[in-house]
Formats: sequence, structure tokens, C-alpha cells
Amino acid sequence: MNQKSVDPATLEMLQIAQNGKLETIWDRWDAQQPQCGFGQLGVCCKICNMGPCRIDPFGGEPRRGACGADADTIVARNLVRMVAGGAAAHSDHGRDVVHALLLAAEDKGGYVIKDPIKLRRVAAEFGIALDGHSDTEIAKALAERALEMFGQQEGELRFLSRAPAKRQELWRKHEISPRGIDREIVEIMHRTTMGVDTDYRHILMQGLRASLADGWGGSMLATDLQDVLFHSPQPLRAAVNLGVLKKDAINIVVHGHEPVLSEMIVAASRDPELLRMAEAHGAKGINIAGICCTANEILMRHGIPVAGNFLQQELAVITGAVDLMVVDVQCIMPALSSLTGCFHTKLVTTSTKNKMPGVEHIQFEEARALELAKEIVARAVESYTRRDPRKVNIPDSRSGLIAGFTSDSVFRFLGGRYRGTYRPLNDAVIDGRLRGAVGIVGCNNPNIVHDWAHIALTRELLKNDVLVVSTGCAAIADAKCGLLRPEAAFESAGPGLREICEAVGIPPVLHLGSCVDNSRILTTLVEIVGEGGLGEDFSQLPVAGSAPEWMSEKAIAIGFYFVASGVLTHFGTPHPVLGSPAVHKFLTDDVEELTGGKFFFELDPVKAAAQIIDHLDKKRAELKLAPPMYTAKKTFQGVTEGA
Ligand code: SF4
Ligand code: SF4
Repeated sequence: MNQKSVDPATLEMLQIAQNGKLETIWDRWDAQQPQCGFGQLGVCCKICNMGPCRIDPFGGEPRRGACGADADTIVARNLVRMVAGGAAAHSDHGRDVVHALLLAAEDKGGYVIKDPIKLRRVAAEFGIALDGHSDTEIAKALAERALEMFGQQEGELRFLSRAPAKRQELWRKHEISPRGIDREIVEIMHRTTMGVDTDYRHILMQGLRASLADGWGGSMLATDLQDVLFHSPQPLRAAVNLGVLKKDAINIVVHGHEPVLSEMIVAASRDPELLRMAEAHGAKGINIAGICCTANEILMRHGIPVAGNFLQQELAVITGAVDLMVVDVQCIMPALSSLTGCFHTKLVTTSTKNKMPGVEHIQFEEARALELAKEIVARAVESYTRRDPRKVNIPDSRSGLIAGFTSDSVFRFLGGRYRGTYRPLNDAVIDGRLRGAVGIVGCNNPNIVHDWAHIALTRELLKNDVLVVSTGCAAIADAKCGLLRPEAAFESAGPGLREICEAVGIPPVLHLGSCVDNSRILTTLVEIVGEGGLGEDFSQLPVAGSAPEWMSEKAIAIGFYFVASGVLTHFGTPHPVLGSPAVHKFLTDDVEELTGGKFFFELDPVKAAAQIIDHLDKKRAELKLAPPMYTAKKTFQGVTEGA
């Protein structure tokens, strides 16, 4: 592949990497070509020591593994193990947040409850008594109840009751209402071990069930309790791309996922003593910037700038301006340890779940959170003294954006501060000003030109009066090209969407946060159905989801819970299932009869947009809504067919 990215800062840094003979993920990915076809098709099984076994994808021999498992079983087992991996990652993140809430209740670690209103709202859902109880008493009871959700052996997860009644009934009917989060993940691992479940449909249904434990369980807990602890985001301005690193300041990059760490690093970077230390070494302050979803967490609540998305983590180091990179869990390339060795950059791991050979580990303990965060910031100050100015190359590339939207703040924006309501949004969909809404989420992947699919898909949808909400690395991609500014409505939106953005002063793409915050998309759908006029279930809404550049198992888990919640969900490259036509058909067709949602796979973002828009129009017609007011015909590639 010749073109690696559509982002100029990325291209500039890749040239610098090449000149300096520094290896990046693109080089290593190229070195992997051609990749194993059996793995891509999902027909390699190595879950027992009689294997690895491979199935001939062309119908020849072997048709079965040594134990007799066929392609359908092997493909389904491999896929749902990916769901388990993704759901485990999101949900363990949620568990750490619950622990932090417990510490806040016990006045330990420097955590405090910053959103007592949300605390009380969530606690009330759990049936916790509020009257006459302090915030810390309520927080303790809530944290204990939330921890129980992970190991809950029977009954349904509490947050399922947020979904419309029809949806809850449907989950029950198909026996996919999840019990405890850990329970469902363990059941996937059990069912898919050698000699247990061989019915591909039955296996995939457990994948749907475990994914619901993620979306309506672990991820939703993470989002809600982070809001309670660190306050619910409000719209705010910030900046994005590698140009947010500063030549004359100490640059600390926080990378990974969990705000229990990054929130404390932000607090420590404002410590007067550390700031004096920085100045004494000639630095103009301490600059924090984020990569990946930890970036989104501190962007949403503090307006901390974002240095880049997943594929830019090595490029940040190659700027030579990062004095310290602190990582916790998920999406952290192992290659960072050798790359940071070529620079003065100090790499620090912090999680009990993640150590890297040769990398200093400062064990993050929530009970000593602020103290440890200060120690990490002090290491950055030390590291700054070793920075080599001749190696510093920061691209002059940064864009403005507005982030900090939530299902609550969208509500207030649209309805006004004192009469928060989704009515104007629902009415805009009903009268055709808005065609529908799409959530674009997920990662980068060197198998697709970096950021291209996110941006191209977003632009096509905006032109056709589709409101886009975004999270994760997808949101960072759109932010870098200016789509998260209110002005983007004039530049990129169709006339109906533009009218709405102008009236309420919002960008046409709303940043809803990190990957666990895809649960905010679910709660937004709950609000829309609850407001009325657009059916009684998610599957009736003119909405869709998309992960155009996915790479992580977490994206599969998210896709599964979108589909299980009744949403059409697009992935740019297929899941590794093409070795089983039956599994592929289940995911892209049969499952719709069960949940009302299904997957489709399409690499070309313009074609994907066309399919999504057909789906939105179909849903509009089923609801007997007026045709889209301005873009009755679809508008693609700058050619307005309906004008
Ligand atoms: S479980 Fe069956 S197909 Fe898989 S490795 Fe073992 S023998 Fe082979
Ligand atoms: S969107 Fe994907 S790559 Fe980005 S932080 Fe989330 S899981 Fe990692």
C-alpha cells in the first residue's frame, strides 16, 4: 500500500521516521504480508494440543479438525472468543472505576465525588436509599452493588431495565439477557473449549449475550461511574494532533484507557511545586496530551489536548519532544519500549495488568493515586533535562474541536437549559430535516489508509443530512480534519443538518467520548425512543453504527452489542468469518430476524454510506415518516443527484 494516511502530520512524521531509519507499525505490518489466509478466514483452531487444525476454505480436505469440529464451529468459536476478549477489557476497566468509587467513599487516594446528582440518579436505579444519607454513604452502597454485578450468577443485569420494554422482552425471548458480566465471559470460554458447544448458532448467541453484558453492563458502569467521580462532561473547546506537543514545555503523553490514572496525572501536572521544578529546568510549564481513549477521557472532562489516535502513538515519540509517556492498559504497542530507547523519552507502565520488558514500572495504587501521579510527573521533569533539541520535530499541525457531549448534554442543547428534552431531535427526524443518526466508532488499522475511511464515511453521511456521533479513535480522526467544529456544519453538512447545527450551535459530529462511552450511544437511543414518535424499539429507529477501521477485539464486542440491541452495524473489513458461509450469513442476515440488527462489511466508505442511507430510508418508510426534506435522493462524491 502506497498511501499510509490522509493526515498531513502523520505523513510528515513517517518521512522523518524513514529518514531516521526508525521502524513503525506500517513497516512491521508490511513485513507480515502476505498474512495467513487461514487466520483471516477464521478456520484455524488451536484451542487444544491436538491442533493447530486448519480447514480447507475451498471445500476440499481437511473439512474437519482432528476432533471433528467443522468450519462453522471453529469460526464461531474463534469469533466469540474475540467478543469475550473485548468485553473483558471494557468491563475490567469498569471494575477499576468501581474500586475508585469505593475509595472515594472511604476518602482515600485523592478521589472525590464530583457529580453528586448523577451519583444519586444511578444509586436510585439500584434501589439504594437516598434520603438522609450522605454522598459518601450512597457511593459506598453503589460501589458494593456495582461490584456484585460482575459476579451476579442469576437474573438480569440492572441496566437492561433502561432499554425499552419491547427490547427487554426480545432479549428474554431469545435467552440473551445477560447475568453477571464475568459469568457471561467465563461461559464463552467454557463453551468454546475443546469438546463443548459445536452448534455455531448457539455459540454466536452466547457471543450476543456476553456483548450485552459489556454494553449494558461493564461499559455502562464505567461511563456512569466515571461521570460520578470525575464529573459529567460538558461541551468544551480543545485541540488535536501532534502539533499540540510543545517545544518549550515538558510534554507528558498519557496513553491507554483508564481515567483513574490520567485524571490524577492531570491534577499532579498542576501541582505548584512540580511547576516550579519544571521552570527551574527552563521549561515553560507541563503540557499533558493524550493518545487513544485515555486521551478522550481527559479531553471530555478537562479539554486536555489529544496528540493523536492509535496509529500515531509511535509518531508522538518520534517527535523527540515527549519527555514521558505513561501507559496503563489496552492499545499500547509493545514496540514503544524499543522505540523510546532511541530517544530520551521515559516510558512508564503503571497497571498490575501490564508490564513491558525493560520498561520502568511504577505500580499505580488507587489508594495512593495522587502521590504516585506526582512521582510520575517528577520523572518527566527529570527526563526533560535529557531532551536533545536537535531531535525535536513537532509537526505544525493542530485542529480545534468541540468535545464533551453526552446523552444528557445533547438533551439540554436541543431542548434548552431549562426544558431539556429530545423533542426537537425527534421532531427533526420526523419532519425529515434529519435523515437519521449514525455512530462512527473504533480504531485505526494499517490495513486501511489511516483515518481515510472514518473521514470519508462521515463526510458522505453529513452531506446527506445524517447526524454523526462518534467515539474513540474515529472521533479523533474526524476532529483532526475539522469536522468537530461548529463551522463544519457550513462546510460539510446537508441543508437540514446545517439548519439544526446552526440553531443550537453544535458541530455536525458530536464527540461522545472513549470506547466504553459507546454506552452513551445506547442511552441516547433510550432517550430517543422514550421521547416518542419514532417507534417503540431501537430496531425501528433510522440509526446505524459503524467501525470503518477496526482492529481491536473490543470493536467486535461493541459491534455485537449494537447488533444485539437492534442496530444495523457496518465494519470496514469483515470479521474473520469468511471461512464459514453459515456464520457469515448468520451475522449479516439471519440475526436480523432475532434482534432486528445485523452486520454488513464494506471497505469502500462511499458504498458503505450508500447502504447505511438506504437502511435509514427504509426505517423512515416503515415508520411512515416524510421523506428527507432536502436530500430526498442520496448525495455522493460531491455530486448532488437530487438538487
Ligand atoms: S479443538 Fe478440535 S479443531 Fe481445535 S485444535 Fe483441538 S482437535 Fe483441532
Ligand atoms: S478506538 Fe480502538 S484503537 Fe482506539 S483506543 Fe479504542 S480500541 Fe484502541
